[in-house]
Amino acid sequence: MDTLRQLTLIESPSLEKNHADRCAGYLTDEWLLRGTLVQLIKQRHRGDHLRAVRTPLSTPPRAQLLVLGHYDTVYPTGTLSGMPFRIVGSKAYGPGTFDMKAGIVQALFALEALQELHTNISKRIVFLWTSDEEIGSETSRRLIEDEARRSDAVFVLEPSLGPRGLVKTSRKGVGEAKLMVHGRAAHAGLDPEQGINAIHELAAQIARIEKWNDPRRGVTINADLIDGGTRTNVIPDCAKVNFDLRAWRLADMRALEKRFRSLKPITRGAKLEVRGGFDRPPLERRHSSVLFTRAKSLAKQMGFALGEAAAGGSSDGNLTAALGVPTLDGFGAVGDGAHSAHEFVYFKTMPQRAALLAAMLATS
Ligand SMILES: [Zn+2]
Repeated sequence: MDTLRQLTLIESPSLEKNHADRCAGYLTDEWLLRGTLVQLIKQRHRGDHLRAVRTPLSTPPRAQLLVLGHYDTVYPTGTLSGMPFRIVGSKAYGPGTFDMKAGIVQALFALEALQELHTNISKRIVFLWTSDEEIGSETSRRLIEDEARRSDAVFVLEPSLGPRGLVKTSRKGVGEAKLMVHGRAAHAGLDPEQGINAIHELAAQIARIEKWNDPRRGVTINADLIDGGTRTNVIPDCAKVNFDLRAWRLADMRALEKRFRSLKPITRGAKLEVRGGFDRPPLERRHSSVLFTRAKSLAKQMGFALGEAAAGGSSDGNLTAALGVPTLDGFGAVGDGAHSAHEFVYFKTMPQRAALLAAMLATS
C-alpha cells in the first residue's frame, strides 16, 4: 500500500517528460532494491523507458519471460489536488492506480517473493515499464516488439475487467483511417455546375462505409471527426473524415484495410485519398488460451476463481500477440474507473494477484 501510494503521488503524464522521468527514477530504485539489473532507455521527448532484468541464480538463461506495462497515465500534473490518493473501505483511489500503477506494484512484489524464496527459474525475466502507452506507444513499440520476440510468454499488467478481475484473453485490434475528398471550388450561385462538392462526396462515402459495420463479427467503423468547406456561398473543394476502426480478427482487419484502399469516388471528378489503418492488430484468443488455462488452474490451487473476458480496447499486448508470442493481458489490478475521476483498485486483491504472477513466472 505504501509503494502504491508513493507511486501514485509521483504523477507521470505521458506528455510531461520531467515528471514521467521522476516516476521512472522511483521505479529504478525499487527494482534495484530487489536485485535486478536496471537499464534506463533514454528518450528525448517522452519519459525514459525502464528495463529491469532478473537473471537465473545458477545456469545461464535458456529463454526469457516478459512482464510488460506502462507507468504513464492520462492525467496531467496537478490532477492529484482534486483527486488525491485516498483509501475508502476496500478501495484505493487516485490517478493511475488502476491503469496501471497497482499492476506495477504487484509485479514488484511478485519479484520480491521469487527472490525471498530463492525460486530457481531457468529463464531470464525482463520487466519492461514504458512511458507512452496511453498515447500510442510511438517511442516504445520497437523495444516492446524486440523484447517480445525473445520471450516465451508475455504478461501484460494492464487492468483486469470488472469486480471479479477477469483477465483479457482477447482484445480488438484498433486503428484509424482518414479519408480526404478533393473536389473543385465554385460559386454556389454563379456557376454551381463548375463545382465538385467535396462535402456531398464525403457524405455519400460515409453512408457507404457505415454499412461495413458488422456487429455480429465485432467489426466497427465509426466516423469520429469531420471537417470540410471554406465559407458560405462556396462549393467546397475539400472535406475529410476520420474513422475509428475495430475488429476481433486479423482476417477482418485485413479485409477492412483493403476495402478502404480500394474506395472509388461516387461523384464524377472527385478524388479520394485514404491514409492510416490499424495501429494495433487484434489479440486473438489463440495467443492467450494456453497461458490462461494455466493461470486459472494456479488460481484454483490458491483458492480463488480466475475468469476471462474480451475487451474492445487495445493495449501493448496486441503488439506482442501479433508476433505470435503467447500473451496474457489484463493480468494486473482489480478495480474500476480507468481514465476517470473515480479510478480505484480493490487493494486487498493485490497480494493475491502478485502471488499468481509469481506462480506463472515460476512455472513458465
Ligand atoms: Zn493502461
